[in-house]
Amino acid sequence: MIDENGKISLPPDFLRRNKCSLIESNEQVTQNNTKCPNCSRVITTSEVFTKSCSLENGIIIPAFDEIGVIIGKCSDCNKDFGVNVINPEFAEFNGGAEKVDYYFDTDCETKKDLYKDLLFSSTKVQGDEKLNQHYVNYTYDDYPLYVCNKCSKNLELLSLNTFKNHFDRFNNEHYNYVNWSLKNGRGQGPEYIIVKLSVECTCGNQCKSFFFKKYVESFNVEIEDFSICNITGSRKINEIISPGVYSKDNSVSWLYKLIPRWTLLFDKVYIITPFIGHQWLKSAELMNVWLELINRLDHKKSKVVLRYGQFSNFKKAYSKENKESYDRLSEFDLGSDLLSELKQANDFHAKIYCGISQDDCEVFSGSANLVKGKSMEVMHFNKYGKFEDFNKAFLSPLGVKEDLETNFNAYSLFFDSDNEFRYFGGKSEIRCSEYKNVVLRNGN
Ligand SMILES: [Zn+2]
Ligand SMILES: [Zn+2]
Ligand SMILES: [Zn+2]
Repeated sequence: MIDENGKISLPPDFLRRNKCSLIESNEQVTQNNTKCPNCSRVITTSEVFTKSCSLENGIIIPAFDEIGVIIGKCSDCNKDFGVNVINPEFAEFNGGAEKVDYYFDTDCETKKDLYKDLLFSSTKVQGDEKLNQHYVNYTYDDYPLYVCNKCSKNLELLSLNTFKNHFDRFNNEHYNYVNWSLKNGRGQGPEYIIVKLSVECTCGNQCKSFFFKKYVESFNVEIEDFSICNITGSRKINEIISPGVYSKDNSVSWLYKLIPRWTLLFDKVYIITPFIGHQWLKSAELMNVWLELINRLDHKKSKVVLRYGQFSNFKKAYSKENKESYDRLSEFDLGSDLLSELKQANDFHAKIYCGISQDDCEVFSGSANLVKGKSMEVMHFNKYGKFEDFNKAFLSPLGVKEDLETNFNAYSLFFDSDNEFRYFGGKSEIRCSEYKNVVLRNGN
């Protein structure tokens, strides 16, 4: 049992039986996409890698990964095929096929023989998280969207500090909810987490700040994941963004604060701009300008309209900066969900950013496209009470068709500081039809 280096060597049988104890966290799971070798349908597989672990008596059990094969039945063509994997007993098909068998390369001559005529999928491609994450990154800078309507103080910073002071309390309640949800998992999960805070301005003005983030069933939650979507007691946005000239830095900052507000409170968010970045940006910079935008947009609610040629500039930049080309990721269904529905048009120079619903639309428009900088732009903020009027003024002339379908079943978790953030007891879920009433008007 002791090898030539004096290390303990355990028989493979023993290691295989105890492999489970070498698998502790989700970080040891990798997901890849491949294709069915019979019909080319995209198939998602997951594999688990082991990690060495030390026992209480000091003995270290080394990592023990075995190569092998999983056999799947394709859900499109119903034919069987093989995929080479690590640890076939734990490898799974997460989409596109069903696992019907597996074997280890080191043994099972009978199975190898049984499957010797089977086709194998040849290429595995791993997705890139940065293309499909939702990361709002609210910046508490010198361009607040929410200031006190009595004394003009920046309410964003004040709200952030209040949230920090109450975060532990909120986090406990959030933990309790996730714990309960994991045990009692029901149908459709919530779309967002909304947090309401009572904030008193230094002038005495009583305000309510609303923060939100996309819901993920995880105990981990950071204050940086949240963005402000409204503060009651603040000045009206059309008084903050009065028609006028503002720097690109200022315009982009406001846009990045309007996007989270629109995402929660409106049915759809539109980003219409001829250009993202500009032609002098290096590939890494151009890629980052794009990622900064698409990571802020909830792809289920957002549409992007650009001039022809822009998307191919991004694809070129992305492919230069990453191991897999963008087209290859797309071929394996691993491109950005948002960009797969990108609309392209010719002959327009308008920049229109908006949140729209049937009975309310907010539009931020003017000359600024999506790039930061010192140069000056002219910008406006307008409200429309009817989608019809907004559509006639902004979307129709550009040939953009929008049906505005609402997901009426959507709901969010609601944690209210006035109720000690308690999830159980009190109003703790809000239907999407109530978001505006609660968040804009502080209704109950
Ligand atoms: Zn197939
Ligand atoms: Zn004040
Ligand atoms: Zn998605």
